[in-house]
Amino acid sequence: MSERLLKCPLCKSGNILNHQLVKDHAVSKKEFTLCRCGDCTLLFTNPRPTEEEIGPYYDFKEYYSHEDQVRSFTQWLYQKIRKSSIRRKVGLIDSLVKRGSLLDYGCGTGEFLQEAKRQHWNIHGIEPSEKARIQAIGKLPTEVLGTLDELPELETYDVITLFHVLEHIHSLRKTVKKLVNHLKSNSYVVIAVPNPESADATHYGSDWAGYDVPRHLYHFSQKSMTAFQEQFGLELVRIDPLVYDSYYVSLLSEGYKNPKAGLLTRYFKAFKQGYRSNQRAGKPGNYSSNIFIFKKK
Ligand SMILES: [Zn+2]
Repeated sequence: MSERLLKCPLCKSGNILNHQLVKDHAVSKKEFTLCRCGDCTLLFTNPRPTEEEIGPYYDFKEYYSHEDQVRSFTQWLYQKIRKSSIRRKVGLIDSLVKRGSLLDYGCGTGEFLQEAKRQHWNIHGIEPSEKARIQAIGKLPTEVLGTLDELPELETYDVITLFHVLEHIHSLRKTVKKLVNHLKSNSYVVIAVPNPESADATHYGSDWAGYDVPRHLYHFSQKSMTAFQEQFGLELVRIDPLVYDSYYVSLLSEGYKNPKAGLLTRYFKAFKQGYRSNQRAGKPGNYSSNIFIFKKK
C-alpha cells in the first residue's frame, strides 16, 4: 500500500516524469522512484508510503535527531555539532526579531526551543512524532503540541521555523498554508532544506544521504524554492549556508557508497568531500543544505 501522486505536490503541475531510483539505505533497503516536476523542478518520492504507513521507516536506532543518548563516535560528533548549530539558529532568529514569538514546526526533542526560551523568546513547538514529542514535553511541558490544529486559531508569530522538516511533510501545501496563516504580516519563515543540486549530491548520486527516501518526500532545488515563495505569498529575504551539513551528509553517503570501508577511510573521504562541496558552493543557496529566510508579504 502506498499513494501515487498525479500532480506536483508543490506547484500542482501535471508535467511530472520519473527521474531516478534511490535506495533506502538506512532502514528498509527498498528502492523508491523520484519523480521530477517539469515546471518547478521539485523532486519527490512517487509512489510514496502514506502518512499512516511511513512510521516504520523512521524506526531505526541511529535516527540521531530523535535520540538523546550518545551511542557512538559519530553520534557524539553529531551532538557537538548540534549544540553549536542550536546556538547559531537562535542567533539567526535574533538577527530578524528581538525576543519575539516563535513557532518551531517539527521541533523534534525540543533543544532549539529550549535555548530560544532561555534567550527570552515566547515559544511554541509542534512535533507530530510521539516519541520525540514526549521528550520535548519533558523539557517544555506547556509549549509543545502534536498538531497545528491544537494551536489557538488566532495565535500569530514573529518567526516560524522549519529546520530540516519541510521535506518530511505529507500534506505540504495544506500545512504551509496553515503555517503562513499563523504568521504576522512582515514576519519571517525560516526553512532549512538539503540541496539536491549541491556538489556532494552530484558526487554521490543515488548514494547521497540527503535523499533519505522515503522519509524525505521532496528535494527542493533553488528553482523549487522560488516556486515555493510564489505559491505561498512569501518573499525571499536571504539564503544562509549550513556549512557543517556537507560533512555529515558526506559521512553518511560514504557509508552507503562503500559499506565495507574502515571508519578512518570513511572519515577521511567524507571530510575531503564535505570540504570540497563547501568550496564549490561559492555562493549562498549552492551549499549541501541551505536556510531560506522568507518574509510574509
Ligand atoms: Zn512543480
